Amino acid sequence: MASDGQEHLGSALQKRQFKPFPGPPPNSGPPLRILPIGGLGEIGMNCMLAGVRDRYVVIDAGLMFPDFSDLGMQKILPDTDFLAQWKDRIEALIITHGHEDHIGALPWVVPALDPGTPIFASSFVMELIKRRLTEYSLWDEKRFIKFDMRQKFQAGPFEIEPVRVTHSIPDCCGLIMRSSEGTLVHTGDWKIDEHPLDGEQFDRGLFSALASERVALMMSDSTNVLSPGRTLSEQVVHDSIVDKVLQHNGKGRVICTQFASNVHRLYGVKRAADASGRKVCFVGASLSLYLEASWRDGRAPFDPKELVQPEELRHMDPNQVLIVTTGSQGEPRAQLCMAAREESRVLKIQPNDLVLYSAKVIPGNEGKVSKMLNALAAQGARVRQSRGDNLHTSGHAYQDELVEVLQSVRPQHFLPVHGEYAFLTEHALLAKEKAGVNFVEVCVCVNICQTWGFKNVYVCLCM
Ligand SMILES: [Zn+2]
Repeated sequence: MASDGQEHLGSALQKRQFKPFPGPPPNSGPPLRILPIGGLGEIGMNCMLAGVRDRYVVIDAGLMFPDFSDLGMQKILPDTDFLAQWKDRIEALIITHGHEDHIGALPWVVPALDPGTPIFASSFVMELIKRRLTEYSLWDEKRFIKFDMRQKFQAGPFEIEPVRVTHSIPDCCGLIMRSSEGTLVHTGDWKIDEHPLDGEQFDRGLFSALASERVALMMSDSTNVLSPGRTLSEQVVHDSIVDKVLQHNGKGRVICTQFASNVHRLYGVKRAADASGRKVCFVGASLSLYLEASWRDGRAPFDPKELVQPEELRHMDPNQVLIVTTGSQGEPRAQLCMAAREESRVLKIQPNDLVLYSAKVIPGNEGKVSKMLNALAAQGARVRQSRGDNLHTSGHAYQDELVEVLQSVRPQHFLPVHGEYAFLTEHALLAKEKAGVNFVEVCVCVNICQTWGFKNVYVCLCM
């Protein structure tokens, strides 16, 4: 049995080793090529090769968090064996922003690439990458290169121009990738926030200017394609947090739960604290990680030194406290969930605590979240979480924003990315019907090498 097993393993490895490079040979077929490794037909694990003939760059290196059916898994990574096998063709890695589904696989992707391959990211994102890769002893000052918006740089066969987009974490960009064979545009994750709290505006001017370039292919975020209209600005959420905290003056503590990476949300928290004579206290280590990275980068809403430590909470007047915590998805080991179960040593619910749910419930977590919020209410806390409370807004564009940018860029071809299959098909339809893009395709992993109907771009999905 053992030898059978070994034989099987041997042939599997051999097969893997000789897996051919997907797509047509370098000198035949369309010269511009897209090889998605993850993020199409699924949420997470964003990673894609874009190239001209046989010279490629990688865009993003994200991971996917497993759901309850992936028993025993902690994270799902892109196929690093493939990247290692073809590292000679990969000339750069470019990161669009700092969310885990875009940078979380770096500790595995970086060793798969050639040690000389440069890695490009914007300044705040590089702070996050530096911290993470230092933990894995993979940080190399010379190899990691920061870029600014609109500052062009060469990466493999492309001249890249980062374009500012707004999203739910600081310093995000899309990529304009120009080459001798045409221009590709990858939006990254984005929305159009008309009043971004950090003042960094979505670069409408640069997107509109692309119309005269005849962009060969545009790829855009499909996450919220099913939502009509436009997203709310972070300014609305900011004002709502301030109002609700002020209304609770003299009535007890405020506990605000949010995603740790949403540094913009802390502008409202800080403003509310200052206006009501409260001090901000973080309960949950990852909140400090993002605030400190933004502080080092000169983008923080406030100095992390102003934070009160959780140990000080029990000596403080409840009317002088504004607690920010993670655990909005009912994660069993997060302090908010432990507080709901009366098991947290740092966070004990008091009657009259006001809980502001400044997050969205990720599909699949509904049961866990409502159980947690019910348990908090049972201990006397007032929970605000309804849509009308305006305590959260998405970082991903709704339909009208998606159409606006498609109409501005007017690409020859369109490939929806970042979304499940139904989102991709809907986004393709939207591009065709509302923005007049003639060539649209929907791609997910089909295990067959296919040449799509695109005239000068080859999109392969045989990973
Ligand atoms: Zn994102």
